[in-house]
Amino acid sequence: MATSTSTSTPIVIDDLSVSPDHYIGGRRVPSASGFELHSPIDQRLLGRVAEGLDEHVEAAIVAAQQAFPAWSALTAAERKPVLDRFAEEIGQRADAFCRLESNDAGVLLSRMRHGVVPRAMLNISWFAQHALDLQNRPIETEQARHIVRHDPAGVVVIITPWNAPLMLSTWKLGPALAAGNTCILKPPEWAPLTCSLLADAGHAAGLPPGVFNVVQGTGAKTGAKLVGDARIARISFTGSVPTAKWIAQAAGANLLPCSLELGGKSPFIVLEDADLDNAAATGALMYRNAGQVCLAGTRFLVHANIAKQFVAAMRGHVDKLVVGDPREEATEVGPIVHPRQVERVHGFVQRAVAGGARLLWGGGPHPFGAQYFQPTMVTGLQQSDEIVQNEVFGPVLTLQTFGSDEEAIALANGTDYGLGGVCYGETAHATAVAERVRTGFIWVNSFGIRDLAAPFGGIKRSGIGREGGDWSFEFFCDVKDVVVPKKPFRASFSQR
Ligand code: NAD
Repeated sequence: MATSTSTSTPIVIDDLSVSPDHYIGGRRVPSASGFELHSPIDQRLLGRVAEGLDEHVEAAIVAAQQAFPAWSALTAAERKPVLDRFAEEIGQRADAFCRLESNDAGVLLSRMRHGVVPRAMLNISWFAQHALDLQNRPIETEQARHIVRHDPAGVVVIITPWNAPLMLSTWKLGPALAAGNTCILKPPEWAPLTCSLLADAGHAAGLPPGVFNVVQGTGAKTGAKLVGDARIARISFTGSVPTAKWIAQAAGANLLPCSLELGGKSPFIVLEDADLDNAAATGALMYRNAGQVCLAGTRFLVHANIAKQFVAAMRGHVDKLVVGDPREEATEVGPIVHPRQVERVHGFVQRAVAGGARLLWGGGPHPFGAQYFQPTMVTGLQQSDEIVQNEVFGPVLTLQTFGSDEEAIALANGTDYGLGGVCYGETAHATAVAERVRTGFIWVNSFGIRDLAAPFGGIKRSGIGREGGDWSFEFFCDVKDVVVPKKPFRASFSQR
């Protein structure tokens, strides 16, 4: 199996070894400066990762620019076999991807194996196929044939967060590369290892040098330098609202299109006619990844008449959750990614309780380890409370009650966020309520069903733009209409 050669001390986890360096122009590039990486499982030092300095950002942009003419000149059909090999090379390294992300981000190993790695492969191969499907969709009118081209935009910067680095990086890389762009990926500094391994997979697949580059580093330094560069054609960002505002300003200075997938405070509505045990079982799932999931339903809005029963049913499921080491097969709730995030999560709960809120369960650190937090449910809240309005991004949920559909919808829509939602109830009733909730998507009597062809993204402060299917290509491409008349064209000043 080909690997790109590393020049610094590799990061070694058991029998795994991964490069801490950048990957630029088809080779590993070390840095004079690095940052320490610790595991959220037990705080042990995993190693030092290269810090992207100005020279590395410059080298990556130049490499991506130089690779663009040849990669973009290929047809989608010619790019497809290379991308299919990329997906296969990810699959060949499945075990390493699972263990690396479990060790640096604390993601459940079982979820990596069954969910994330297969999806990462699909993110590459599905979009490679979709690029082909997209080519043959002319618009035919009586007058003309409109050949709608999706031309690659150029050098694309991809910036991803720590809660799902492999999934989100491939979700953007897949369409960006399939469309013929060249890419620079800036991984999250708290969980950078699977993105480094992704470079090995791309290298082994034969992606030409400079087509896919990885520049490690912090957001404030490396990320900021990348997004401020006028040679970039697109910025695709997933992360928090404050960072997005910063990026949008930097992009605005160069009039660069940016796609922003941001935080959420999604409602989980339980109507009076809901199947309570099903709703409660799905409710407990909101603690997955220790609640560090952008699309989780984190604000429970429950009809007052069934609130007591629902709370009892959900408590039954929550009490059975196995909190522990994410590398263990039986674990259902792992650690919080970073000590700073643990502090942040705890602060939200402490301030809510100090302000008069009540804990239905949980409320503090979990005895399993320093970065573990009890699955928590807070109630007795006002809509204006900080914990109702702001994203906690930890295993902390809130519960409010309502007396009518109108009230449920008003509460659901009563934050600045608008990413997703969940609505449990008799299907037609729940669907009607779901349709009135102002978010980018919402699940009726279910959670997490996704399709790569479907649009994904948020409204209000949860983001700008949509990813998935055609939407990804619309963002990563310059869409062009080549108009060919069907009858001989005669110049006329009175023409419409
Ligand atoms: P973050 O905004 O702190 O960081 C995200 C990325 O941006 C990191 O790679 C970081 O290094 C980089 N960055 C930070 N400052 C930057 C700057 N000035 N210029 C360029 N890059 C910069 O977010 P996070 O804490 O890593 O991730 C958690 C957030 O991500 C949550 O708000 C969560 O809801 C959101 N998220 C959203 C989705 C979605 O699809 N909508 C998915 C997952 C996570």
